Amino acid sequence: MKYEPVIGLEVHAELATATKMFCACRVVDTTVAAPNTSVCPVCAGMPGTLPVLNRRAVEYGIKVGLALGCEIRRTSIFARKNYFYPDLPKGYQISQYEHPLAVNGKMIIDTSEGERVIRIRRAHLEEDAGKLTHVTEKGKDYSLVDLNRAGVPLLEIVSEPDMHSVEDVRAYATGLRAILRELGVNSGDMEKGVIRFEANISIRPAGSEDFGTRVEIKNLNSFRAMERAIAYELERQAALLDKGEQVQQETRGWDEGAQATYLQRSKEEAHDYRYFPEPDLPPLIVENDWVEAIRASLPELPRLKAQRLQRDYGLTPNESAMIASEREIAEFFEACAQALKFAQPRAVGVWITGELFAWLNQTGTTFSTIKVTPEMFAELLDLLHQGRINQNTAKSVLIKMLQNDEPASVIIERDGLIQLSDSAFISELVADVIASHPKEKESYLAGKETLSNWFFGQAMRAAGGKANPSILKEELEKQLLRLKENQ
Ligand code: ADP
Ligand code: MG
Ligand code: ZN
Repeated sequence: MKYEPVIGLEVHAELATATKMFCACRVVDTTVAAPNTSVCPVCAGMPGTLPVLNRRAVEYGIKVGLALGCEIRRTSIFARKNYFYPDLPKGYQISQYEHPLAVNGKMIIDTSEGERVIRIRRAHLEEDAGKLTHVTEKGKDYSLVDLNRAGVPLLEIVSEPDMHSVEDVRAYATGLRAILRELGVNSGDMEKGVIRFEANISIRPAGSEDFGTRVEIKNLNSFRAMERAIAYELERQAALLDKGEQVQQETRGWDEGAQATYLQRSKEEAHDYRYFPEPDLPPLIVENDWVEAIRASLPELPRLKAQRLQRDYGLTPNESAMIASEREIAEFFEACAQALKFAQPRAVGVWITGELFAWLNQTGTTFSTIKVTPEMFAELLDLLHQGRINQNTAKSVLIKMLQNDEPASVIIERDGLIQLSDSAFISELVADVIASHPKEKESYLAGKETLSNWFFGQAMRAAGGKANPSILKEELEKQLLRLKENQ
């Protein structure tokens, strides 16, 4: 490997407060609400209005800061970041600049090469801007401004440039999203734009300690866009260096259609924004008692939870990570594991991350809407474990449970799905199937051994899928062997 990637991430997370950062307007879903319906003189930037800080936004910021192991600053200060753009009615964004709320944290990520620490430089509070929609019609281009999002509280979380691959970035970003969700400060709904990324990317000769010139890619709204943009940018920069050219420090955008980054502007410097302290807001002072109360209330965070599930229930790293990434799923898992009478908890992990997740994906259902309870799920796995139903029947019963909110025992009883384990009955069934397929029988005896699988399928079908597969297999092998010997 010739070059080493160096990547730092700026993550903008909307804080899921009821009202905006500096006014009493409701925070609404901007993908659904009619434009400009949650706007007042404060967030519309009318002259003479005054901002009033939302206490809940500060609490959420502290929560995230603590979860990331940051030091929470007793005093932080809001500043005005001046720029002119139609999504910003005041002409400046209120943001913490020199004195952020939280500094010097870290997040541990798991990579294929083991655990790594990604340092967090800072997490600061700021307000979101409005949303512009650019419309291109024949003969006229125009932009629509929706200020519903203007003034929504944001936490910007800035990492040190400690990531060195797309894989690192994915682990960091998904880990951060899981923490935000666990804390209940952000829904994690990427398609609603509640988390947005900016990636700072440079490369340097492998083994070098110096930093190369960095490029910042703005407005990455999904994990996929971010990963592709970074991969593209790493190649672009490597090609420049290979040609003996230099990387320019600049801001680039991601063109989804072209799957390429493009130049937006040469890098702006901090002084371009004419930062100065916000005169309408006093310094933010957070008392230590409040910080400690928030610290004491922090939930178990996803990564530690995953490790515990792995340890206590014998789940694989992959299963435990998937289950721990969502509080609701983890709670469902643990309740289910508690409710089991016969099956092993590991089976719950396998069935949740396998059959259940597959069904949710296929039907586009969210986990929170399913009505199957942990007790119902446990009953199904117990019935399977006891051999009352076989694996395939269990799969179809689960789907019926999810569709009709019925318990497994009811479905099995009504649809007559109890597993057939009676060897005399199965033996007769196998004999029938072989006898009614003389051609296949001949081929088998002539040496086409793979037909035994085919016979198995036929017999299982004749049993309505309900036969105990190991008894059936044993019986079939026995009878085929006997035929061969009697040839
Ligand atoms: P700004 O974007 O306001 O200039 P900073 O200079 O603090 O902010 O850096 C922002 C981000 O850029 C941070 O996440 C940091 O880790 C990252 N970064 C800084 N230098 C480099 C570099 N040489 N290569 C990649 N990322 C970098
Ligand atoms: Mg930046
Ligand atoms: Zn408002």
